[in-house]
Amino acid sequence: MAVPPDVVKRAEELRAQIVHHNTRYYELDSPEISDADYDQLVRSLQHLEAEYPELAEASPLQRVGGAAAAAFSPVTHRVPMMSLDNAMSGEELHAWSERVERGLAGAGAAFVCELKIDGLAISLRYERGELVQAATRGDGKVGEDVTANVSTIAVIPARLTGPSVPEVLEVRGEVYMSLASFEALNARVAAGTEIEDRKPRKELFVNPRNAAAGSLRQKDSRITARRELSFWSYQLGEVVGGPQFSRHSETLEFIGSLGFPVNPEMRVVVGLDEAEAFCRHWQEHRHDLGYDIDGAVVKVDDLAQRELLGFTAKAPRWAIAYKFPPEERNTVLRDIQVSIGRTGRATPFAVLEPVFVGGSTVAMATLHNEDQVRLKDVRPGDTVVVRKAGDVIPEVVGPVLGLRPKDSEPWVFPSTCPCPIGSTLVRAEGEADTRCVEPSCPFQRDQRIIYFASRGAMDIEGLGERTVQQLSDAGLVADPGDLFGITVEQLLDLEGFARVSAEKLVASIDASRSRPLPRLLTALGIKHLGPAAAEALAQAFGTLDAIMAASEADLATTEGVGEVIAASIHRWFSDADHRAIIEKLRSSGVDFGRVEVSRLPQVLTGRAVVVTGTLERYSRDEAEAAIKARGGKSPGSVSAKTFALVVGEAPSAGKVTKAQEVGIPVLDEAGFIHLLEHGELP
Ligand code: NAD
Repeated sequence: MAVPPDVVKRAEELRAQIVHHNTRYYELDSPEISDADYDQLVRSLQHLEAEYPELAEASPLQRVGGAAAAAFSPVTHRVPMMSLDNAMSGEELHAWSERVERGLAGAGAAFVCELKIDGLAISLRYERGELVQAATRGDGKVGEDVTANVSTIAVIPARLTGPSVPEVLEVRGEVYMSLASFEALNARVAAGTEIEDRKPRKELFVNPRNAAAGSLRQKDSRITARRELSFWSYQLGEVVGGPQFSRHSETLEFIGSLGFPVNPEMRVVVGLDEAEAFCRHWQEHRHDLGYDIDGAVVKVDDLAQRELLGFTAKAPRWAIAYKFPPEERNTVLRDIQVSIGRTGRATPFAVLEPVFVGGSTVAMATLHNEDQVRLKDVRPGDTVVVRKAGDVIPEVVGPVLGLRPKDSEPWVFPSTCPCPIGSTLVRAEGEADTRCVEPSCPFQRDQRIIYFASRGAMDIEGLGERTVQQLSDAGLVADPGDLFGITVEQLLDLEGFARVSAEKLVASIDASRSRPLPRLLTALGIKHLGPAAAEALAQAFGTLDAIMAASEADLATTEGVGEVIAASIHRWFSDADHRAIIEKLRSSGVDFGRVEVSRLPQVLTGRAVVVTGTLERYSRDEAEAAIKARGGKSPGSVSAKTFALVVGEAPSAGKVTKAQEVGIPVLDEAGFIHLLEHGELP
């Protein structure tokens, strides 16, 4: 059957794309598309080749990796370095095991399960115990000589000793960069102290794999040394004069006994179900490790069975890589916009071409502040790498410079607020944040009302961001005091309200009149005054009127309050507009004196909760006070004993990484509030 011309054309296009991306990835360490998108291209071509086998001749799918770079001497591998076939699902894993069983004429196999380390393959050649050569995989037949650079990797032995050291021994494995070293490297890039090619490197590294590949292929091995690369060994290459093995697991034991690092998570299992459970376990727990993995590898343990199964052009038939769903995708950054918080903080955020990554569709991601945008150098129109890992909020990692439009210009922080009155945005000397300095800015005003109604404050169910904006656009509310006058009829005029929902909202506004004083105090959104200090003040003074009447000095004597908060409270209540809000609240029947005298439930007794980054509602001190008030502790660092890590804006990457390493739950602010209320994870 002749191949239809449109299929030939499509196959040619796919081949050209795959060859292009292989060069970018394997030879230039600078991919333009995500692994997931690359895998998609490969799959499309595989389908065509399966349907029309004549297309498979000269296919890039028959080849391993990319060509060795001329900067390094070529090394011919005596035993080829192969790739791995992939399974993207449980079904594909089962299909593989059925092929294995057929290949073994129905005999069962024991499997070895390993982590698939996201780094790059290396072959280490020892002769009479001396490390004589280290080579990259290259195209599987010829790799690059990177001996000088590999010699800087601390965990790789330079010399092997002992009676069982073979005459010639090739140990193979993955060179990778730990997350801690990766964070440290990017911190040096950000500080301008990471020198590459005799000048400070400007671009952040996108992920540990690219950083590891780039670091291993440096011309100056002092740079490689500084990058703190690591290594896990998982295989032997050529061996002359060594002990005989019958199982892969025995070879791993032998490799370990010679002093090479063998990953401790390796397991020998009896059936495919156990192997699948291993894959699923690590899919779930991939962030509990201090390094990136992109899957698990299942290998037939018996070496005689491996012989029977053999190889395809590119990969062994006796092993399969179970790939995890991607956590990084590339997408287009449509725009950078600025959102205004209740205190006027202007936060830039990325408006993205929606992309499915890390289990959900991401269309927006915070860019934190002006310096972060500059450091990442992301520009509207760029193709960017978006990462969403575990519970951590999605992040724009950086641009794909190779795809940057020619006319692209760096993004400039706007000098006016996007609100209808276009108030001025100012970045004060020495501050990281840019702010809208006009208190009557409608965006700030809306945010203050949203905050007033939110869960940790007056907790008005059904009054979310969109409804507040509708109410404010319709001129029905200008401050929180107006909320209590809203009627069902007024709500019915707004889009999306039916009688039932309107009545429900009015009822929940009504119910909020009797919230305890600490919540009311918090809801006012006074700078520096968070829930913990509000609780202390309520206990000490009993009513809102007593707090308003108190002198600054009196307020400051309250435990957990202090001068800064006292001054801020005093200033807030001296403002005529604020007094007007208070009087509106009073005349609407809001309770000004409901103090809960009982001690807070001690739901966090004996638990350590670490906080990192800036939270909306709590200053650092307040967050700690809130934890302590419930019997918990709030130490400054994450350890295996930490109960949870609370992550705000611009968290310390070290703490997040550590929490992931040791498997500590990571919570956002809503999760923190839940934890404070219930003593449990959300
Ligand atoms: P692979 O990465 O899917 O699998 C083979 C490799 O896995 C081995 O060579 C070895 O380096 C590594 N590995 C890690 N742990 C291992 C273990 N325990 N046992 C055995 N091997 C282990 O295959 P590949 O041919 O190296 O690369 C293909 C993949 O590379 C693609 O699926 C894609 O993710 C990525 N890629 C991306 C682009 C791009 O443009 N983004 C281009 C080319 C390739």
